[in-house]
Amino acid sequence: MIKNTTVLNCRVDLVDEKEAIELVQKSIEEKNNLHIITINPEMIMNAQKNLSFLNIVNSSDLNITDGVGVKMALKLQNINQNQIRGVDFSRKLINLASKNSYRIAFLGAKEEIIQKTKENFLKQYPNLNIVYLRNGYFKNDEEIIKEIIDASPQILLVGLGSPKQEEIISKLKNNLTGCTMVGVGGSFDVFSGIVKESPEIYRKLGIEWLYRTIKQPERFKRIFPTLPIFLIKCIINTVKKKG
Ligand code: UDP
Repeated sequence: MIKNTTVLNCRVDLVDEKEAIELVQKSIEEKNNLHIITINPEMIMNAQKNLSFLNIVNSSDLNITDGVGVKMALKLQNINQNQIRGVDFSRKLINLASKNSYRIAFLGAKEEIIQKTKENFLKQYPNLNIVYLRNGYFKNDEEIIKEIIDASPQILLVGLGSPKQEEIISKLKNNLTGCTMVGVGGSFDVFSGIVKESPEIYRKLGIEWLYRTIKQPERFKRIFPTLPIFLIKCIINTVKKKG
């Protein structure tokens, strides 16, 4: 049984990366679907006002701690949870797919980026069984859903940004079998090599958001005031519970 808690009404599962990967393998082998959300403060704040997104978050199968903000929110509940970075987790899934010859599908990002991602992964894992690949700029969700169902992947990585990626996964979920589905945000941009990954020192300090904001200043308005408001709400919640 996986332990969980809630952060501002959103379920967060307390697993480490190894347990999560083991669960993926078990689900695929047993032909169960698994919707994994790499949850961060922006998603939790969005769920406060978007109830259909809150419902998706709480009906997913596994919500793993991505953003350092979520790690801090858990710390307020006296829970020490390691951060599982979405990019690292996706790399582990690709490695797992290659080792076990799982059918894998990629949806999202710009065409040149998704093609470069494919090229890079095939260099690293020549036997990677990519059964579907599509850029993330399309008008008709239903057409894409049908194509993915036909491809029948066992691992599906969707990089459309949130909540779009979680919404399309929730539509797909009941139409696939034995598939692990993960929203990976901007991970394809990193895998393509076109967007640089934050240096290790930023990752160690848990401030890769700062690096990404410096590199892409347009992200500033996404982080501020969302992140501080998220932390203030979490602190108020903790004080209320203790009082
Ligand atoms: N994207 C897409 N289709 C869209 C909008 C966005 O494929 O209609 C892609 C975009 O190219 C980028 C990713 O979704 O690769 C979103 O990345 P973002 O940085 O917003 O996600 P984060 O990593 O912050 O979750």
